[in-house]
Amino acid sequence: MLSKIIKEEAITHSWKLLKAHNNIVIITHISPDGDALGSALGLYWFLTELEKEVTVVVPNPFPNFLKWLEGSERIVIYTEDKPAAEQVVREAELIFYLDFNTLNRIDGLKTAALDAPAAKILIDHHPKPDLLCNVKISHPEVSSTSELIFRFICRLKMFQKLTKTAAECIYTGMMTDTGNFSFNSQSPEIYSIIHELLLLGINKDEIYNKVYNTYSADRMRLMGYALSKKMKIYPEQKAAVISLTLSELEQFNYQVGDSEGFVNIPLSIENIEISVFVRQDKDKIKISFRSQGNFPVNKMAEDFNGGGHLNAAGGESYLPITKMLEKIEEAVLNREKYEV
Ligand code: 5GP
Ligand code: MN
Repeated sequence: MLSKIIKEEAITHSWKLLKAHNNIVIITHISPDGDALGSALGLYWFLTELEKEVTVVVPNPFPNFLKWLEGSERIVIYTEDKPAAEQVVREAELIFYLDFNTLNRIDGLKTAALDAPAAKILIDHHPKPDLLCNVKISHPEVSSTSELIFRFICRLKMFQKLTKTAAECIYTGMMTDTGNFSFNSQSPEIYSIIHELLLLGINKDEIYNKVYNTYSADRMRLMGYALSKKMKIYPEQKAAVISLTLSELEQFNYQVGDSEGFVNIPLSIENIEISVFVRQDKDKIKISFRSQGNFPVNKMAEDFNGGGHLNAAGGESYLPITKMLEKIEEAVLNREKYEV
């Protein structure tokens, strides 16, 4: 039996909204990752079982290694068809916000979401959500939004409406947000949930292979280059910084998602507690932060227009890359500034 972490009031209110509305839109964050898509599609399949009309809308494309998720081909991608995405958001009766705590995280969809007359339900695990919603299910202590979707469905007493397909999506999100259960994964209840998902027929080893063992040779070579030529270690600060410029990415035929996971690699070096990965995209610089132990990378990310969790955070910048790297170096050299 799982502990009832979602408040009764939130469940009752959500159920009322679900009963009242048929046309439902699910929105998740920019650069959708495994948990964003896993939670969105898990909920999508559940609501489809309830015979709702459901559309998942995302701000921009997602990586190839998530394209096997059933239903991903039906997702409306804002940057690929802005009018269509805006229209579904505008016409929705009920909107679910999944896996983000602030509207800036949905980028170009922000205006449409703000203007949408729909009722809104947030389900998320990032600290301090600042959005206006009819129901807020915010649990930073839970390791993934996908886990929250499972708990939400159970609390609605609708476990029987959970299909194997939905279970695969939920497992994918739980697996990716915990690095295949290697961090944020100490809660015994995670494994009770996995037990249920396995009984629904998911093949966890197959899911692992689909997500982690389908990279391109170019991606592997880019990783080799990043580690051998572009990783700077700061032994005193127990930190590592990897940076890749646009021209370096192009040299390796970069595709969306190719640098996924690079930021985690330096943490497997002995005595490295902080890892920063800087990637120059066409329109901005994306920064990813990871830490081990108590170092709050979300605080560091706040200096880079971002945020996130204690051990995983991100931000972005529009500075020239050299200026940006100087700023990162300064932040790393002054790591104690972020420690409490
Ligand atoms: P990643 O490095 O994988 O892109 O992001 C790790 C985590 O940091 C995400 O789950 C999200 O919580 C947070 N994050 C990433 N980028 C941003 C950003 O630009 N702004 C904010 N507020 N959070 C971010
Ligand atoms: Mn997440």
